[in-house]
Amino acid sequence: MHLDFLYQALPMRVRFGAGALAALPDELDQLSFRRVLVLCSLEQRATGESVAEVLGERSVGVAADAVMHVPAEVAAAASDRAAELGADACVTVGGGSAIGLGKAIALQHGLPVVAVPTTYAGSEMTPVWGLTTDGRKETGRDQRVLPASVVYDPDLTLTLPVAMSVTSGINAMAHAVEALYAPDASPIISLMAEEGVRALAEALPQIVADPGSTGARSSALYGAWLCGATLGATTMSLHHKLCHALGGSLNLPHAPTHTVVLPYVLAFNLEAAPAAAAALDRALPGSGDPAHRLWELAGEMGAPRSLAELGMAESDIDRIAEEATSKSYGNPRPVTYDDVRALLRSAWSGSEPN
Ligand code: NAD
Repeated sequence: MHLDFLYQALPMRVRFGAGALAALPDELDQLSFRRVLVLCSLEQRATGESVAEVLGERSVGVAADAVMHVPAEVAAAASDRAAELGADACVTVGGGSAIGLGKAIALQHGLPVVAVPTTYAGSEMTPVWGLTTDGRKETGRDQRVLPASVVYDPDLTLTLPVAMSVTSGINAMAHAVEALYAPDASPIISLMAEEGVRALAEALPQIVADPGSTGARSSALYGAWLCGATLGATTMSLHHKLCHALGGSLNLPHAPTHTVVLPYVLAFNLEAAPAAAAALDRALPGSGDPAHRLWELAGEMGAPRSLAELGMAESDIDRIAEEATSKSYGNPRPVTYDDVRALLRSAWSGSEPN
């Protein structure tokens, strides 16, 4: 075996377990945060309020302002609120949108973030921030936005609707898949990626069958943690570029878009990524090629399987193919405009990936 890699560990502090929310005050004490602003989306205000209640006098307020893609004006208003209240940190409660808001405040004003994730998107494990100004989303990496601590409490995911659990879980798997063949892949990250996919592939059908299963919810969040960590540690390729273009230009929903596109990217990339193919062969249920197995699994769980059903017009295929190939990036197989156009056409119609 010939190995050649650079591995840089990210400073992560993680508390995991059913009821872990009760340990959040202690977590803040350990970090010497005394006045935190709780951030969440409007839909999760009640959850945000209950977290503030757990924090008692350590909480200075709840800002239920988080929305998808972190609009700059929302981030500015939340930053002002944090400053007015004399907050020394933010606690984000929710998915990528809530964490994204906390990261924007950290980036602009240096307030540390403590994350309490309630989806499987994985943003809490990455130093990647995003900010949307005048409809244009800018992203970047900065160590200051990496949460100082992450508290994973699977009990908080029991309310995540089944359809969102499935697509969010496959969104997490997409991080691990691309980490397996990333230009900066490394052995420890590949172990985490394989285990993350395995845990999610096992847990998601159990959640579909019984959304209140605490064991399945715990396994899925564990898988999401691992997949998020692989996202934070590596550089993503074709799949994430495509989903970024589809989400940014057409405003398609984040997790469902990842869910539809992933099997087609696998079908395209895996012949050029044998180690990733072998890992996915071990991690995914069933037999046959991993792309097909993932597509079958998504179908069995009732997930969307075509971009058309997410609202994409056929006439947008060429534009997105152009956008996704306008800059070069690492990918196991060279990517041409015609390849991406054909891939998008299959994903748009939902035909069997091959
Ligand atoms: P989200 O945070 O927008 O959440 C979707 C909806 O689900 C929201 O209305 C939210 O209130 C609700 N919700 C969340 N958890 C719930 C729960 N447990 N019960 C009931 N409702 C719940 O969606 P997301 O998929 O978690 O995040 C997507 C966003 O995160 C995108 O903007 C994406 O670009 C970003 N993201 C960033 C990174 C990164 O590294 N920077 C990584 C992944 C995703």
